[in-house]
Amino acid sequence: MGAKNLNCRSCGEPLKYTFADLGVQPLCESYLSIDQLNKMEPTYPLHIHFCKKCLLVQLEESITPKEIYKKYSYFSSSSKGWLKHSENYAEMIANKLKLDSKSQVIEIASNDGYLLQFFAQRNIPVLGVEPASNVAEEAIKKGIPTIIEFFDKETANYLVEQDKQADLLIGNNIIAQVPDIHGFLDCMKALLKPSGIITLEFHYLKNLIEKNQFDTLSHERFSYFSFTVIEKLFTSHDLSIFDVEEIPTHGGSLRIYACHSENQQISKTNRPDEVRESERETGFLEIQKYLSFNEKVKETKRNLLDILIKVKRKRKSVVGYGAHAEAHTLLNYCGIRTDFLDYLVDRNPNKQGKFQAGTHLPILSSDKIQETKPDYVLILPWSIKKEIINQMSQIGRWEGRFIVPIPKLEMYDAQGNELTSTVLKEEVV
Ligand SMILES: [Zn+2]
Repeated sequence: MGAKNLNCRSCGEPLKYTFADLGVQPLCESYLSIDQLNKMEPTYPLHIHFCKKCLLVQLEESITPKEIYKKYSYFSSSSKGWLKHSENYAEMIANKLKLDSKSQVIEIASNDGYLLQFFAQRNIPVLGVEPASNVAEEAIKKGIPTIIEFFDKETANYLVEQDKQADLLIGNNIIAQVPDIHGFLDCMKALLKPSGIITLEFHYLKNLIEKNQFDTLSHERFSYFSFTVIEKLFTSHDLSIFDVEEIPTHGGSLRIYACHSENQQISKTNRPDEVRESERETGFLEIQKYLSFNEKVKETKRNLLDILIKVKRKRKSVVGYGAHAEAHTLLNYCGIRTDFLDYLVDRNPNKQGKFQAGTHLPILSSDKIQETKPDYVLILPWSIKKEIINQMSQIGRWEGRFIVPIPKLEMYDAQGNELTSTVLKEEVV
């Protein structure tokens, strides 16, 4: 049972059921310097509920987005894979909607202009809305017009008054981070030209549940959506989803296409019906699906701790690969500190020499692995485990092995051969 006096942010129903309770944790994109280690650290509950009436999975708002997003440390352009994804999308949608120099593209949470630059290159007028001033200024330097504001009623009204309505309105990985979803959808509706199109991308709840991606839960995300839930929300704001596709980004996302419900020019594909039907068939309309997730999360923690305790009792050394947001959530939830891992490595030089918030694990360059020759490397970014195993195959020289905790506990040798669970048991018992 969840906390008292909490209500669903979508329908107002009291929230009584836990989806996942990951304890109290510091914010994930914070890294400590050595002189911060003996100071007090603010922590916030990471307790995610679901609404039994509308099935929205949601986090109680314990910290406001204004506290999180004033200065954002993540520059979208720093990920090559994400840039390529953005370039492909821009090309696809510009052709599909026949966008040209008379069109207007607006992106909400436009970060450093990672996406809008690909429209600007095609001479399509663009405008970004981005509240984090440091990343927004980077976009402006690139020549991407950007207003440094939260996307709220005031901003939307201002843009409409300036005659800046969108032919294409984009929101990637933003709807999860909005506390007031209804207000957000009203603003999107207001900013969309009568013939305009909205595309939104967000991590798909179906993957989160089925692939056990609980480490993607964070204080920055207030809601997690199935297609059925988001479609109802859109419909209630007179927006109609006419197409949807599953895309591989962020562990499996949905991209939805919407227009004004009043717009009769656009014909609906049959994909929305198919995705909705598939969710019904796989139990996503039943509360049991959501109720059972918390136990799966706890079992993942027990399995990971079980193997770490066993290898540590055999006096083996273990280090962690990855100091990103998901690693933060997983290690803080499991209480894995230097009692289990000697250190973390991360390729981002800005994180090296710092410490992970909460666990205080030191973050070092991956060269350290060659130097200390650990018996096990715990791979935390599960979505790129194959690349990491390839990159780190040198651990075979000292018979090192890889452990991957998600979606289920697996062990690999240095060549990337999965060791069966029997071998795994014999080796570590
Ligand atoms: Zn609800």
